[in-house]
Formats: sequence, C-alpha cells, structure tokens
Amino acid sequence: MTRWLAEYAWLPDRAEPTRDVLIEATDGRLTAVTPLTVDRPPTAGVEVLGDAVRLPGLTVPGLANAHSHAFHRALRGRTHDGRGDFWSWRSLMYAVATRLDPDTYLALARAVYAEMALAGITCVGEFHYLHHGPGGTPYDDPNAMSAALVEAAAHAGIRLTLLDTAYLAGGVDGAPLTGPQRRFGDGDALRWAARVDAFRPADDHVRLGAAIHSVRAVPAEQLATVAGWADRNGLPLHVHLSEQPAENDACRAVHGCTPTRLLADHGVLGPHTTAVHATHPTAADVALLGDSRTRVCVCPTTERDLADGVGPVRRMADAGSPLSLGSDSHAVVDLFEEARALEMDERLRTRRRGHFTPVELVTAATVGGHAALGWGDAGRLAVGQRADLVTVRLDSARTAGVPPVGAFFAATAADVTSVVVDGRPVVDGGRHLTVDVPTELRDAIAAVTAKEDS
Ligand SMILES: [Zn+2]
Repeated sequence: MTRWLAEYAWLPDRAEPTRDVLIEATDGRLTAVTPLTVDRPPTAGVEVLGDAVRLPGLTVPGLANAHSHAFHRALRGRTHDGRGDFWSWRSLMYAVATRLDPDTYLALARAVYAEMALAGITCVGEFHYLHHGPGGTPYDDPNAMSAALVEAAAHAGIRLTLLDTAYLAGGVDGAPLTGPQRRFGDGDALRWAARVDAFRPADDHVRLGAAIHSVRAVPAEQLATVAGWADRNGLPLHVHLSEQPAENDACRAVHGCTPTRLLADHGVLGPHTTAVHATHPTAADVALLGDSRTRVCVCPTTERDLADGVGPVRRMADAGSPLSLGSDSHAVVDLFEEARALEMDERLRTRRRGHFTPVELVTAATVGGHAALGWGDAGRLAVGQRADLVTVRLDSARTAGVPPVGAFFAATAADVTSVVVDGRPVVDGGRHLTVDVPTELRDAIAAVTAKEDS
C-alpha cells in the first residue's frame, strides 16, 4: 500500500478543495480517501502519517487530454510566417507527416507524451490517422504506427486510448486521397475495420477506440460501418466536427445538410461518441448533439492558434453534451490553460463573466476527458478509481497567494510538481523520472523537420 498526504485535494462533488486529505492505494487503485480535519483534530493526523508521501499544494485527479495528434507538436512555432490560415497550416502538417516512420514516430510521440506527463496529463486520446508508409503502402505490420504510439505512451508513463481513425477520402464529395493523404487511407471502411481488428494490444495502459476523421474524409455511405464497428466492440467513437465553416458549406453543397445532421442520419451520434471542436454548429445541431448526449471535446488553444473561432460551448453543455478538453495540435500542452479558456472564451464572446464554475472546469479536464476516452474508472479521487494524482504547487510566482479553489484560473503546466499514474510516480519535483523531455523533443523534432538539402 502507498499513502500520500495532500495539503489540499479536490474530492468529487465538492465545490472547493479539502485540506489535509490522506490518500491510500494498493495495486494502482485508490483504497481510501480520508479528509483528516473532518474526522479528527488536525494535530492528531501527524502521528498516523509517518510513511505517507507529502504532497504540498493542490492535488487533483489525473488530467485527461481527450484529443491529440502527437506529430503536430513538431509544428509548434513554425507556422507563423506570413498570414497562414488553417489550410496553409495543414500543408505544413502534411510535410511533417511525410517524414515519419515507426521509429521516428516512436521517438517523437514518446517525447510529446512525456511533455504531457509533466503537465499532469495521465491519459491521452490519440486521434491517429498516419497509418501507412509512403504512397499509402502498408508496412509489413499494417499497425506498426499504432504499435509505436502504444510503446511511446508506455515509455512516457501515461495511459493511451488509441482512436484508430478512418480517413478514406479527400473531400466531402468523396474525392480520392492524394499526395501525403495517401498514407492515411485504408481504401474503404471495411478494410479499415479489418486492419483495426488485427490490432489488439494486451498492455494495460492502452485501450482502443475508433474515429471518423470528419465528414470530409469518410463518405456518407461508410459512416455507419465505422460507427457500427465501435458500437459492436463497445468502444468510444470520436469525430472532428464543424471546425471550419468551409466544412459546413461543402457538406451542405453535397448532402444538403450540416455535418451534424449527416452524422445523426447515419447513426454516429450518441453517448459513446465525442464530437471534437464543434466550433460552427447551428442551433439545430446543438440540439441534435445534446439530445443524443453526444460528448463535445473542445481544444481552445488550437482553435485559437488556427483562427477557427469560438464554439457555443456553454450552450452545448446546457443542451446535454458533457465536455472534455484536448490539446490537439499541441501549440500549447497545458490543460489548465484549456480549462480556463472555456470561461475566458465565453467572456470574449458574450462580454459577460461567470459562465463556468471552477468545478465544471476541473470536471472537463478530469472525469469528462476520461469518460470520453473509455476510462470510466479514472478521473475522480474516490475509492476504487485508478490512483492518478496530479499535484500543483501553490507557492510559485504564478500561484502564490491564490486560494486553492482558484488554482485552475492561475496555474500553468509548469506548476505541476508531482504526477502519479496508476499508483506509480512518473513526475517528481517537476521532473519526468525517465525521459529528458526537452532534449528528446529537440532531437525528435529535428529529425522530422530537417531540410532535405542540409
Ligand atoms: Zn484534431
């Protein structure tokens, strides 16, 4: 058994953190979560805690990053020349994609997932579509890229939901994949399913899920095949939705309806489905998502970076869509920043304050993300849950003097001092215990961005 004494811990159903909480775990599961100041006088606690690891600051459940494309991290800081938009950014992203193979992707993803661990992320949903070799030729193991991501997460010490993504067409009109996109394609949804069926990693830190890249990339008549596969296997299904108005316009032109309506008509929506972004839904789309209890994952720092816009997030939550958060393109890897952006972006949109409570922000970053990724046993500091503990210091230049309840409005990823995943320490004293994160990021990014002629 391992015991920790958290100076403050954010317990389920509490409006604010609780002081002096003894947390115990055996075999990676929480076995007791006891607020000492409620159950006994504060001074009595000290004697019974001899072997407990002290966690000064605020301890929260593991943060779940519900939307990631690990290789996009290589683009950070490289896409700001001139006046690029989403589509010019995408061209640069394709250039990196052409340089990746299972070895270089393992090195890059390992460093990126270790950066996430440093930020307090204990579980990531990898929306994975870079499946095949150059020109679309499968590797000898057609799931070699998936295997590299699973290994990368193991090295970084975090859990992974591998959202194996169907990416079959180059546009809403069903145009064939061209150029770098050919590496993403399996031909059709049945062949996508056959490849994924052949991949069943046994490791405990990984679960599978399915993804539809978008209505741009999966023809309408094949949407139900992917959704049906996820449903039969009881796995989460994710889909990029209405990130750009151009997607809505193209969908209306070809199908005469919005992307959300198209997904609804083909059985894609529901409580096991997560719509990623949902930045430009109509009022009817918001109702379709909420009534079907479809989850919504917003990625505010990426949506800001790509000039996508701000979605009606409060309205979607009120309509019935549980929220989660993703760092997506990894322009920023900081779920505190993503969480407070829920509130901040609504303030900019409405010129009013007070849209989300602190508990709603914590919920989106923790239990909401884990649920979207198929880990119903993680994201709460409660008996029986996975022993994921993320501790944020309250004595840094950013957080000193901040009341614990305000930590999600003040802390950054750099304030995370300790991370425990499934009972195992991964980060201590603000350092990753097995990965030299800055050095590995530098080297892995250099390997996939070096100029051909240098
Ligand atoms: Zn994405």
